Amino acid sequence: MEKQLVCINCPMGCRLIVSMEGDKVCSVAGNVCKRGEEYARQEAVEPLRVLTSLMRIEGREKPFSVKTSAPIPKRLMFDCVNEIFAHRAVAPIHVGDVILANVCGTGCDVISTQEVL
Ligand code: SF4
Repeated sequence: MEKQLVCINCPMGCRLIVSMEGDKVCSVAGNVCKRGEEYARQEAVEPLRVLTSLMRIEGREKPFSVKTSAPIPKRLMFDCVNEIFAHRAVAPIHVGDVILANVCGTGCDVISTQEVL
């Protein structure tokens, strides 16, 4: 089986062809550099993305911005968004603060990307 992907690691957007046997990647073609092959091997098996979102703050109306500390499985995006929406952070908040540890058991934390004093 073949999967066709577009590499999103740089503006060149190389078209990648991934040959698979079941869930196993056999080969990758079309990549100009090693990053493309690494991306294709991960994307074909378990796509990962950094999640960015807004989170509410206890006692305040305006939310603040957060993101995951590393890419998380795409299939867990909605579960993670729901956990983020259900959580209320407590000010003061600094950029890089861990607001929610190990979101949805991904091993990644939700960290602040905004200062709230
Ligand atoms: S394979 Fe390399 S050159 Fe091509 S889009 Fe991906 S990162 Fe860019």
